[in-house]
Amino acid sequence: MSTQTENKTENSNPVTLKDLHTENPRWCVGCGDFGIVMGLKRFFLDQKFTLESVVNVSGIGCSGRAPNYMNTYGVHSIHGRPITVALGLTLARPELNIFVHSGDGDALSIGGNHLLHGINKNFKCVFIMYDNELYALTKSQTSPTTRKGHKTNTQPSGTYLEPINVIRMVLGIGASFVASTADWMPDHLAKTLDAAFDHKGFAFVHISQRCPHYDPDNFDHKTSTWFSFLKHPDGIAPDKRIADKTECVEHDPSNLEGAFKYASLDRRYFGLFYRNTEKPTYDSILRNQIKTAKPEPRSNILDRYLL
Ligand code: SF4
Repeated sequence: MSTQTENKTENSNPVTLKDLHTENPRWCVGCGDFGIVMGLKRFFLDQKFTLESVVNVSGIGCSGRAPNYMNTYGVHSIHGRPITVALGLTLARPELNIFVHSGDGDALSIGGNHLLHGINKNFKCVFIMYDNELYALTKSQTSPTTRKGHKTNTQPSGTYLEPINVIRMVLGIGASFVASTADWMPDHLAKTLDAAFDHKGFAFVHISQRCPHYDPDNFDHKTSTWFSFLKHPDGIAPDKRIADKTECVEHDPSNLEGAFKYASLDRRYFGLFYRNTEKPTYDSILRNQIKTAKPEPRSNILDRYLL
């Protein structure tokens, strides 16, 4: 299997921010998606990726537009299905750098079953979940992460269910990498993308994303009293701009029990919850099978499937 270092395609003519530009995004003023895409572009430059070595794959939603705004290869796929495209690409072209973009509705509702199997297969990709806690493209409907009591166009008297705890859910499915950050913390976002890309399996990156158009009161990005950072020498360092303004708790990302503990608290935590480098990846298993397969008559192979 290719290592991540091998995946970083060398570029003798460095790409610039201008090269990555396509058109001005059609997102609302102040939308958190701007910060996420800019963070990704800067990450691509830091990694010295060539434009053709990156594939951005998305589902549907405001975040689904992200691949259109980066001058790399991209697939704006169908609702809840970016994982199938990403898996196929990872298997066929292991040298590519695959980034998946999916919102809370796309990842947890329409694509919930695909997310489950993507995590279980642990194939190599960076999965970025843009969580603005509602369906925004379809004009403010309740999503699986909408906070209880919040008024949406599908529940105008207030959402009556507790939101899904995403971090706890993906830890429970067996994700090998789980990190959380926010669109308004560029330093922390950059470090999170760095750690996620270095992971050899399915790197789940949860991003709290502002939607000022439909939910301007969510995520008070001007204060830091409502969240904490997880920190550890093997983890992701707290955002340098905010670290001294809030609590930073020590958490070893190899400690699954500790990860569940912080994921289960009411307070929000940003940082690396969990990393397991031992979990096998579907792509490496498949490639090893192909490498060690011996030629034999087709009938022999088919006979093994006889009932
Ligand atoms: Fe961003 Fe919300 Fe506008 Fe969509 S509706 S572009 S999520 S601010």
